Amino acid sequence: MNYTYEPAFKESIRFHGHACLGLAVGYAAARVALKRLAIARAEDEELVAIVECDACGIDAIQSVLGCTLGKGNLIYRDHGKNVFTVIDRRKNRGVRIALTADLFKRTPEQEALMLRVFGGEANETERQTFWTAQQRKIGDFLADSAETHFRIEMIKPEAPEHARLFASLICEQCGEQVMEPRVRLRAGKKVCIPCAENYGRGW
Ligand SMILES: [Zn+2]
Ligand SMILES: [Zn+2]
Repeated sequence: MNYTYEPAFKESIRFHGHACLGLAVGYAAARVALKRLAIARAEDEELVAIVECDACGIDAIQSVLGCTLGKGNLIYRDHGKNVFTVIDRRKNRGVRIALTADLFKRTPEQEALMLRVFGGEANETERQTFWTAQQRKIGDFLADSAETHFRIEMIKPEAPEHARLFASLICEQCGEQVMEPRVRLRAGKKVCIPCAENYGRGW
């Protein structure tokens, strides 16, 4: 069977590199955020996304919501959870979207196949089997109502500050540029974090 993905999801796939269930999770969460907050994509910094994992789904958050690490309106918290909090700063409201469904259960055979595919060891037939199954899972998942898979709650946010601009200086050890709040002092020298951590192992 062939699933036709909506254009915004196709765009996420293009950005991410492949169509996987993890990406679909982030995409579905982004879709919920747009709907519940009644907003369009963030051109500037009015939207902030706080994500609690660094899995595939984050790429859909970046692609659909325009919340990116570089713009400073994507905040990453390393909790290993598919939880996405999206805040609209102008209206001072937000929505927290948490995956509660166990979508990633696999049999040992499926697990082995996945590892072969991502390890580049699968043959053409195995790859096709894998990606066809993925496509079916994604299609089914996106066709369900989001409430089936997510706990969704509106929140009154304490919005993080706008991206701040920091002075930068040159690390006295490696000569590379580093922003001021990340500078460490070692033996009276102003150094970057990698240089500070190597202190005592060579200089
Ligand atoms: Zn992926
Ligand atoms: Zn350095």
